Amino acid sequence: MAQHIQGTEDLFGGYMRAWQHMQDVARDLFGAYGFDMIETPAIEQVSTFVHGIGESTDVVRKEMFRVFSGALMERLLQSGSESSLKAKQRLALRPEGTAGVVRAAVENNLVPQGGAPVKVWYAEAMFRGERPQKGRLRQFHQVGVEWLGASDPASDAECIIMLMEFYRRVGFDPSKLTLRINSMGDANCRPAYRQKVRQFILDHKDEMCEDCLERAEINPLRSFDCKNDHCRQVMAGAPLVTDNLCDDCREHYAKVKQYLDEAGISYIEDPTLVRGLDYYMRTVFEVEVEGSGVGAIGGGGRYDGLMELEGGKPTPGLGFAVGFERMYLALQELGVDLAGQEPPCVYVACTPEERDEVFSATLALRQAGVRAEADYQGRSLKSQFKQADKHHACLCVVLGPDEVAAGKATLRDMSTHEQVQVPLSELVNQVCERVSQKH
Ligand code: AMP
Repeated sequence: MAQHIQGTEDLFGGYMRAWQHMQDVARDLFGAYGFDMIETPAIEQVSTFVHGIGESTDVVRKEMFRVFSGALMERLLQSGSESSLKAKQRLALRPEGTAGVVRAAVENNLVPQGGAPVKVWYAEAMFRGERPQKGRLRQFHQVGVEWLGASDPASDAECIIMLMEFYRRVGFDPSKLTLRINSMGDANCRPAYRQKVRQFILDHKDEMCEDCLERAEINPLRSFDCKNDHCRQVMAGAPLVTDNLCDDCREHYAKVKQYLDEAGISYIEDPTLVRGLDYYMRTVFEVEVEGSGVGAIGGGGRYDGLMELEGGKPTPGLGFAVGFERMYLALQELGVDLAGQEPPCVYVACTPEERDEVFSATLALRQAGVRAEADYQGRSLKSQFKQADKHHACLCVVLGPDEVAAGKATLRDMSTHEQVQVPLSELVNQVCERVSQKH
């Protein structure tokens, strides 16, 4: 039997309804903030992600799924090296949404000089070659937003406020959520700070793991996030970014906090919060669910240098992404049912002789917007009623020989079992009225 790949999931039934519900909440809420939907290709040139996410990140170095056509793969196996490939032949599945959106904005000139900012949101599958475990998949789904062209700290605060409102509308009790924020500085102050952290790691090199020693040279700030507990204990003594911000960054950060305070959003300032992707600067944030073992359910930040890295004009930008699967797990633990019920359905039951009448009645109901089911397996009336229950039908339409001869249909209320007869000419109206009364 064919099997799914470990770290991937099939989305159907209640799980699929939950994913769709999350997208509905996003569409309503993000729409009110002026965000339009975007979809970029699932495959991009490797360079798009390398520029955007950073050469030194785990995502780019270890977790990106590379894509080759069969013909290209053969050539590669023969030559034994990737160096013969042109840039446009070096492809990867997207591990996150921002780099592709920024590439699309540059290519389509979505943020013309002096033009209004562009605000987009997406709901897409992402792919990372991570070791599968609870809440960590190789194909997972994110809802995310990108806001390009805005530098005002009010936009940072609005993004965070919108994110927290998203969690509330999806079903989280805000008091169970922990929002951590930090400022990572900018091109002015971060290089000197990076240097200080590098020096700190080198001064403690006997106590740090191999990975951290490598990080000291390529991305020392990532050591704050080392999986090794001892490294993190040592890093607790490292210089903090918030003590090393330039005046502009300090002012920007103070304004963001002021707006969050005004909006009544509670947060924890965490000067060791460094997000996994290289492009972040100034504001960064992450959200966790208290007591749930699934890790962060979302995060984001500002990435003012990214448009330039992708070949565009200097343009500020910020955004966030939330992970569907982790949110679903966390909500389940909190006893929130996101799957909901199947939409209301009407079952049209018949005997074989009345097949033609049932065919046209079912069609007419569907055209009027009613979710209608019928039997296509020649079942007895009794088992059709059982099927109607399985479909959670609220109403059954019975078209038997007596009904058809009299030009009528029987409507059976599936919860009260009450039955009434209505003229066939009024069937659609009568069904619509009863369905809308039920919901
Ligand atoms: P990131 O792009 O790494 O900031 O991730 C944003 C959100 O996506 C995280 O907070 C998680 O909720 C989710 N996420 C990231 N990686 C995975 C993964 N491998 N499996 C499931 N969800 C993930």
